[in-house]
Amino acid sequence: MRCPFCNSSKIKVVDKRESGEDAIRRRRECESCKKRWTTYEKIELLPIVVVKRDGRLESFDRNKIRSGIMRAVEKRPVSPDKVNDILNDVENEIRSRGKSEIKSREIGELVMNKLKNVDEVAYIRFASVYRQFKAVEDFEKELKELKKK
Ligand SMILES: [Zn+2]
Repeated sequence: MRCPFCNSSKIKVVDKRESGEDAIRRRRECESCKKRWTTYEKIELLPIVVVKRDGRLESFDRNKIRSGIMRAVEKRPVSPDKVNDILNDVENEIRSRGKSEIKSREIGELVMNKLKNVDEVAYIRFASVYRQFKAVEDFEKELKELKKK
C-alpha cells in the first residue's frame, strides 16, 4: 500500500479495531507526510448453501438462525450477547468444516448443542421446532434425557 496523498510506501498502522461483523478497520498514518486515513479490510467468506428438509436449497442466512434462537430464548435469562456468542460458535463450526453445503438439520443440531448448555427451556423450545416433535411422548423423552445429565 502507498500513501494516497504523497505516494510514499512508509505507512504505519496507528489503530486497529473490529468494525461490524466481518470487517477490520485500520487507521493508517503516512510517515512521510503525516497524513492519516482509514482502511477497511473485508473478510471474504465462502458462500454456504443450506439444504432444506425437502431438498430445496437456500443460501446460509445468519439472521434466520438468529431469529430461531431469539424465539427460543424469549423471556428467558439469556442476554443478546450470549445469543451472539452462540451464533458465532455455530457459524465458526459450519465454516471450519470447509464444505459449501450443510443440511438445515445439521445447523439445528449445532444450535441445540449450544442451547443445551445455556438454558434448558430455550433448548427444549428450539428442539421441539427443529426435531418437529410429533407427540408429547417425544417431548417428554427429550426432557428425561436432559434430567439424566
Ligand atoms: Zn504521505
